[in-house]
Amino acid sequence: MKYYSLNNQSPEVSFKEATIKGQAPDKGLYFPKSLPKLDKNWFDDIAGKTNEEIAFDVIQPYAGEDIPEADLRRIVKETIDFPIPLVKVTDNIYSLELFHGPTLAFKDVGARFMSRCLGYFAKKESEKVTVLVATSGDTGGAVANGFYDVDGVDVVILYPSGKVSSVQEKQLTTLGKNITAIEVKGTFDDCQQMVKQAFADTSLTSEKFLTSANSINVARWLPQQFYYFFAYKQWQQKDALPVICVPSGNFGNICAGMLAHISGLPVQHFIAACNANNVVPRFLDNGNYEVRPAVATLSNAMDVGNPSNFVRVLELFNNNFISLKKILSGYTITDEETKATLKQVKKETGYLPDPHGAVGYLALQRYLEEHPGEKGIFLETAHPVKFYDVVEPVINETVPIPDAIQQILPLKKHSVVMDAEYGLLREYLLKN
Ligand SMILES: *Cc1c(COP(=O)(O)O)cnc(C)c1O
Repeated sequence: MKYYSLNNQSPEVSFKEATIKGQAPDKGLYFPKSLPKLDKNWFDDIAGKTNEEIAFDVIQPYAGEDIPEADLRRIVKETIDFPIPLVKVTDNIYSLELFHGPTLAFKDVGARFMSRCLGYFAKKESEKVTVLVATSGDTGGAVANGFYDVDGVDVVILYPSGKVSSVQEKQLTTLGKNITAIEVKGTFDDCQQMVKQAFADTSLTSEKFLTSANSINVARWLPQQFYYFFAYKQWQQKDALPVICVPSGNFGNICAGMLAHISGLPVQHFIAACNANNVVPRFLDNGNYEVRPAVATLSNAMDVGNPSNFVRVLELFNNNFISLKKILSGYTITDEETKATLKQVKKETGYLPDPHGAVGYLALQRYLEEHPGEKGIFLETAHPVKFYDVVEPVINETVPIPDAIQQILPLKKHSVVMDAEYGLLREYLLKN
């Protein structure tokens, strides 16, 4: 598979190059040159396939020229070695639980797949890669965990001291091995600035092979298709195709779902569920794509004012607004509605979503009220315990901490404390 830049000013590249570069030199996002199709027989037999077989068949056309079959099968197996169950919540609403990975959020799948691809490429080049990232909390945990113990890859994560939650800090600082956490005496913006300076510093990058683990990387975006195939495999409703509702921020996840649909996956309709950061729902209503600065909400992983992946959604539909609107609807859910939904769903069904899942649940419920007889799935993108400070006061109960988190709480933190000065980071990277 070749990948072209959506800005059309850079040469086409292989999967390997797109993964290593992240973004094209013209600052465009990479996009696959052709869209693979899976045939009807493949879908008819899906119930008899393992998740590993499904995921391999889906990703093989995208990565198979650069990674031999046996290695790609191993990478896929390690990426999805946790359950992704479809759980019935009401007669017409199901939850696809994407939070059973090590950091309890769906970003684990993309981070793991990308880390193992980079590890494979690094080993072949016998050159060590250093992944350098700044985190405000959540991405760092998924990246740290995803890259943990991957041969040939070192990870350096910068986080603002005292400004991440205690669980998030443990996730960053207790792994050790190839993961180093740098605790910056400053803000998230300071961390990001230091990372940007490192990438722009050619005297450093000529000595060290630096790369980012940015969420627009094709190796993080493409494996998110797996969820939608796993959902279909578990969908037992013979009378209706699923309506799929995705809590969306940067639009990478839903874009992967729509790509799966174009590759043949049967889906009735897609819903983009957004919080107050609703540039896409407004665009679907009135045709104007009007970017606004992000505002803070309770579903903070979706607080994105200008979703980077939406250009990929447009490309999937050749920028045809009419055909996009046939398959995609958008809903805006307020914080008040999010809290009310958490409370109501818990009370009426016993199921407890997280704030992002609650946004998805309510958007799906609204759509189904307008389309009687249809049934749907919302993607539950994080475990409610990750947002206990929002969830617990609303339901008036504590949320039990899952084993994966319980285990890291007593571990000792290891971090490199640093003032917010680029020179110090440079010195550290050159020495280590
Ligand atoms: C990242 C994230 C989202 C948004 O996903 P996008 O691919 O950016 O649209 C939703 N929920 C949670 C919990 C997330 O971490």
